[in-house]
Amino acid sequence: MAEKSARRVGEPMVRIEGLRKSFGDLEVLRDINLDVMPGQVVTIIGASGSGKSTLLRCINLLETPDAGHVWFHGSDLAAEHVDVNRLREKIGMVFQGFNLFNNMNVLDNCTLAPVTLKKMSKAEAEEVALGHLESVGLADFAHADVNNLSGGQKQRVAIARALCMQPDLMLFDEPTSALDPEIVGEVLEVMRRLASDGMTMVVVTHEMAFARNVSDEVVFMDKGVIAEKGSPEKLFTAPEQPRTREFLSRYL
Ligand code: ADP
Ligand code: MG
Repeated sequence: MAEKSARRVGEPMVRIEGLRKSFGDLEVLRDINLDVMPGQVVTIIGASGSGKSTLLRCINLLETPDAGHVWFHGSDLAAEHVDVNRLREKIGMVFQGFNLFNNMNVLDNCTLAPVTLKKMSKAEAEEVALGHLESVGLADFAHADVNNLSGGQKQRVAIARALCMQPDLMLFDEPTSALDPEIVGEVLEVMRRLASDGMTMVVVTHEMAFARNVSDEVVFMDKGVIAEKGSPEKLFTAPEQPRTREFLSRYL
C-alpha cells in the first residue's frame, strides 16, 4: 500500500469505477463511478433502498462487487495480491446501530481491535483511546458500561473506537438515524469537527443541513445509480435533475 507521503497530489484516496452489485435478481448498484479525494467530505443522500449502504459496504468490502473496481490509495481492492485486511484497517466505519460490544466497557471497546490486530501494546492503545474519548467528550466515561450510555454517547464511542485504528478514511452509514432528535446534534458536532480536522469522510445521511454545510460534494443516489452529484450549493440550490428536486422537496 502506498504510504501517505508517497501519494501524488491530486490522486484520489478512493476511486470507484463501473461498480455493480446485485442481490439475486435485484440490481442494487448499477455502474457507480465516484472519486473521493484526500481530506474531502462526500455526503450520499437518497431514498431508502436506493443503494447507499451497499455502496458504502463495497468500499470496505463488507460486500463483494459483481463488477467494476474500488481503488483505495491506488490499490484495487479486488486484486488478488492485495492484503484486504490491511487496507480495511485504514477504513473506519460507523453504523446506524452503533455495533458496540455491549459486554465490554467503553475503553475496552476502543482498544480491542488495535491490541488484537497487534497495532499497539495495550498501554499505547489505552493512551490513544483516552485521547479520542476526550475529543468526543467522553473521557469521563472510559470505564463506564456501554449499556448505561445514551444513544448519542454510544455513537460517540463508536466514532472514537473507529479513530483508534488511525484510519485514513471514515465511512458513516446514517450515524444519527437511530437517535432521538435532541441528541442528533452532539454526534453531528463530533463529525463536523472531524471533517474540519481534515479527515476524509463518506457520509450517508438524511441530515440535509449537515450535507449542505459540511460536505465538499453531495451525491444523490436514486435506484442504484448516482443520479446527480455536485457541490452542496449546486445540488441544494440548483439541482439539474427533476428526481433530485423531487427528493429534496421532501425535506423543505
Ligand atoms: P439504502 O441504504 O439506500 O436504503 P441498501 O443499499 O441498504 O439501500 O439496499 C438497497 C436494496 O438492496 C434494497 O432493496 C435492499 O432491500 C437490498 N439489499 C440490501 N442488502 C441486501 C442483502 N444482503 N440481500 C438482499 N437484498 C439486499
Ligand atoms: Mg442504508
